Amino acid sequence: MPSEFDIINRYFAQTNLIPPASDKTVLLGIGDDCALLQPNSDKALAFSIDTLVEGVHFLVDMDAFLVGYRALMVNISDLAAMGATPAYFTLALTLPWSDEQWLNDFAQGLSAVAQMHSIFLIGGDTTRGPLSITIQVVGQVSPTHALKRSGAKVGDAIYVTGTLGDAAAGLQIIQEEIACDESAANYLANRFYQPSARVNMGQSLVEVANSAIDISDGLLADLAHILKASEVGARVHIDAMPLSSELLSVVDKKTAQQLALTAGDDYELCFTAAPDVEEKLKEVSQKTGVAITRIGEITNDKSLTCVDSDNNEIEFTTLGFRHF
Ligand code: ADP
Ligand code: MG
Repeated sequence: MPSEFDIINRYFAQTNLIPPASDKTVLLGIGDDCALLQPNSDKALAFSIDTLVEGVHFLVDMDAFLVGYRALMVNISDLAAMGATPAYFTLALTLPWSDEQWLNDFAQGLSAVAQMHSIFLIGGDTTRGPLSITIQVVGQVSPTHALKRSGAKVGDAIYVTGTLGDAAAGLQIIQEEIACDESAANYLANRFYQPSARVNMGQSLVEVANSAIDISDGLLADLAHILKASEVGARVHIDAMPLSSELLSVVDKKTAQQLALTAGDDYELCFTAAPDVEEKLKEVSQKTGVAITRIGEITNDKSLTCVDSDNNEIEFTTLGFRHF
């Protein structure tokens, strides 16, 4: 059985994960008591950390490649929501066993995302215990233009990227709660297993949007964080929700809208911007190849209201996912 140090050397201190020699901002990576970094001084460093616990954040029998892929991607989504450029990450891994096939697949999942987003592993910790994965990501962002939750202004339009509700339907398909044709099932399951952090989108929005958040717990729950931080309210048009044809092929429209509003795991961005930047947003959407949909507006009454196409208010008993 490999020791802690064998595991680190074999699976994590490997070329697909560690910074390339050309990255002069990393003076020292894995192998010493600390990593040493000397990053670009005109940028602020953006830090975020997330823990994934087996049974809560990923499925007990989920493919290890997908566990690694998803774990790193959802952390990068927080950088995207800030408009930051991914740079480094650390990994604290608690394992009940040292299964080499699992470690190999897990590391490959991490590598796929690390290469995609040019983010590199600079250290971590490896311990024995119930399976849990903590990843800390570090990015770089303009200190004056980072996309904060607190920047929404009354009169801003509210936008979301991509389509919503797919990952929640995907999870139900994975758990065999709903049945459907194979291509829709694959698409939706993949939206859960392999979300796309909207990094290019976030960077492009840095000088355009007033506030942003990534949608991990559900649109309404996450939008509520923007409203609280910005001390404003919002009106959301439920008929404007961007829904994929795959989602609409497995559930009725009402259920699809409900998922889009309250279900998590999509990792799309929700942002607000002054209504006069609409043209600029069209360019951003074209450049990034990701749809941007206007779904509502920021109001000054400090409440979150959902309306249908006849302007009737719709009540939701739950806004999204909460741990406690
Ligand atoms: P220490 O005992 O000083 O905390 P460790 O023995 O935990 O050091 O780790 C040795 C080196 O390996 C450190 O540089 C640490 O950052 C790195 N490391 C440990 N576990 C991991 C991991 N899962 N992924 C990446 N690097 C790791
Ligand atoms: Mg240690």
